[in-house]
Amino acid sequence: MSQFWSPIVHSLTPYVPGEQPKVTNLLKLNTNESPYPPSPKVLQAIAQANSENLRLYPDPNADQLKRTLADYHHLETDQVFVGNGSDEVLAHVFQGLLKHDKPLLFPEITYSFYPVYCGLYEIEYRKVPLSESFEIKVEDYQQACGGIIFPNPNAPTGRLLALDAIEILLKSQPDVVVVVDEAYIDFGGQSAASLINRYPNLLVVQTLSKSRALAGIRVGFALGQAHLIEALERVKNSFNSYPLDRLAIPAAVAAFEDEAYFQSCCQKVIHTRNQLTQTLEELGFTVLPSAANFVFASHPHREAQQLAQKLRDEAIIVRHFKQPKIDQFLRITIGTDEQNARLCEALKRIVAMG
Ligand SMILES: *Cc1c(COP(=O)(O)O)cnc(C)c1O
Repeated sequence: MSQFWSPIVHSLTPYVPGEQPKVTNLLKLNTNESPYPPSPKVLQAIAQANSENLRLYPDPNADQLKRTLADYHHLETDQVFVGNGSDEVLAHVFQGLLKHDKPLLFPEITYSFYPVYCGLYEIEYRKVPLSESFEIKVEDYQQACGGIIFPNPNAPTGRLLALDAIEILLKSQPDVVVVVDEAYIDFGGQSAASLINRYPNLLVVQTLSKSRALAGIRVGFALGQAHLIEALERVKNSFNSYPLDRLAIPAAVAAFEDEAYFQSCCQKVIHTRNQLTQTLEELGFTVLPSAANFVFASHPHREAQQLAQKLRDEAIIVRHFKQPKIDQFLRITIGTDEQNARLCEALKRIVAMG
């Protein structure tokens, strides 16, 4: 019955999210969610959201959240855009800022949603190789293009690009938008948000799904000078006036009002990441330096896909990408210390079995 489809649908290759199986005792280390619950203040804010008001539409501009985010990042409210998860924000960015005559540039190994948006919005793109050690080399982005996007830290490698390298890129490409997707920045990086008032071509995208433990409420945002935000508002208001609902807005505000809780969760993840890295190295794995809430590791004598399968047999799910250059790697989300102990025990047995 696909004759009913619009022509473009035939050519789409949709993104495949990490699975969300419904098995008890499952240790889910495959989609980089937080192992910790959101702040208790977030849960209070949701409980207090007046349920009678759910019959009414939410604030289409989510002004309260924009004010909170602007204050947090020392920006103005017209420098903030909010959306239904950063995936939706990114979709509007691709359509509103990155579709030009010249190809969009992004790393050869990166967030696999980027080529999917290019397919949806018919944007031409070129993949730029990483270094041998999976680093983004900004000098390779000094070519004619219609825009640049990369995650920092990169996904799924976890490798961080320093802020001064980002500045070199911004200066070398003043006529195109450079998008820094900071989904994992809170786990060890420095946000490029501090550069916004100096670079009219910089857009920073963040999410509450990882470091703020709110993947379930779908809130993401973009920060940039007002002319970039206006483009996103135009696209958004041509698509969905109410992307954030009456529960998500107060929940997101509360998440930013509990800085101490946020910091302590990030610190715990970093601590556990260091422990996991050490254990993996003791087991013979090569682990890329990670500034994210996951590690990317490969073993010289064990097939990554088999390791993933054997972990799965023990109800531990990690992510394996059947993709050239990274098909011997596993991407493992950082869990709690208890979860990490269970993972490490399983890996010790599996690697010893051969
Ligand atoms: C998780 C992730 C996102 C999407 O996050 P949501 O806000 O949950 O849509 C965007 N970019 C990267 C690189 C991610 O890893």
